[in-house]
Amino acid sequence: MDLKERFLRYVAFDTQSDENSETFPSTEKQLVLLKHLTEEMRSLGLVEVEMDEHGYAMGSIPATPGYEDRPVIGFISHVDTSPDMSGARINPQIIENYDGKDIRLNADLMMRIVDFPELVYFKGHTLITTDGTTLLGADDKAGVAEIMTAAEYLINHPDVPHGKIRIGFTPDEEIGRGVDFFNVERFGAKFAYTIDGGFEGELEYENFNAASAKMVIQGRNVHPGYAKDKMINALQVAADINSLLPAWERPEHTDGYEGFYHLVGLGGSVENATIDYIIRDHNREKFEAKKQYISKVVELLTRKYGEGVITLTLKDQYYNMREMVEPHPEVIDKAFQAMKQAGVTPIVRPIRGGTDGARLSYMGLPCPNLFTGGMNFHGKFEYCSLDTMHKAMQTILNLIQLWAK
Ligand SMILES: [Zn+2]
Repeated sequence: MDLKERFLRYVAFDTQSDENSETFPSTEKQLVLLKHLTEEMRSLGLVEVEMDEHGYAMGSIPATPGYEDRPVIGFISHVDTSPDMSGARINPQIIENYDGKDIRLNADLMMRIVDFPELVYFKGHTLITTDGTTLLGADDKAGVAEIMTAAEYLINHPDVPHGKIRIGFTPDEEIGRGVDFFNVERFGAKFAYTIDGGFEGELEYENFNAASAKMVIQGRNVHPGYAKDKMINALQVAADINSLLPAWERPEHTDGYEGFYHLVGLGGSVENATIDYIIRDHNREKFEAKKQYISKVVELLTRKYGEGVITLTLKDQYYNMREMVEPHPEVIDKAFQAMKQAGVTPIVRPIRGGTDGARLSYMGLPCPNLFTGGMNFHGKFEYCSLDTMHKAMQTILNLIQLWAK
């Protein structure tokens, strides 16, 4: 089956994850695709194929005889789609030999070059778009299709030398739980790559260090006419906290390697209030300094308002995978080489977020992220380039052979 056919088959499965669910995976429907992928791996002739009790689907391509001593390399992508937009009854539109102009998604909706100037890069490509009513699910079914089609190629070309390859399909990436139960030991790869990036050439191995800072404020409500020297207005305390954080270190004023404090929640009354932030920085020292700064703000305001008024809970969420990947430069070097062999120019950018690969890296499986060819993830303007998807698949095949050298 070719890449396009496979991709269209996978996007027909509704696999939206749900952050409000308490089960794992968060939605049953993800298991339907994971089971389908398990059966497909079996029918292609992969070995050690299983879907474990949490729904992770894994399989192996055994090493070519004589190459058993090469490191085991893994490829991982996620099956779920974002809760931000429906992924049900997707109606993909195929545009062959794209003319580089605005794209009509339906009678009411255009995808315009002025809004998405990168579209012009794809002139001449075959694009797959939505009909403007759902997302597409290229994030990350493009990755799933690329890995599966590369696996099929290897099975059908036993003359191509390679070490043992492990494949893993995971649920719930979009809600940040994708590797909660991922069994790194059972996966058994020395290094892996998530195939979950966007634009052609993307190679990501640096992400944020991340923490959450939640503050619960206990005020003291008194009739405002008689409040002098008695009232503590929890909302004013929250406003004080926010005014003490650097105004320029916010997501809307930062990019590249600049970190931030991001106000994500604020609510309450005179009596009690809560104020929530997320803290992000690529640099570990700066990250620690940001957490310390917020603690100092709370200390200062505690002197002003009194003990017990503000309760701060700081929680680390994930760390920059660079620390885990850098000791193994060959993981990145080979990705560079594999892309160049596929005619792709590598683009290294720090991720201003986290990835499953970042968490896997800290679980002992160094795991950078490679492009898929999908664009505008999580919304109705999502699309992918079939041409770029072919290059992503070729990059996977090149990588596999480079690891066998
Ligand atoms: Zn993704």
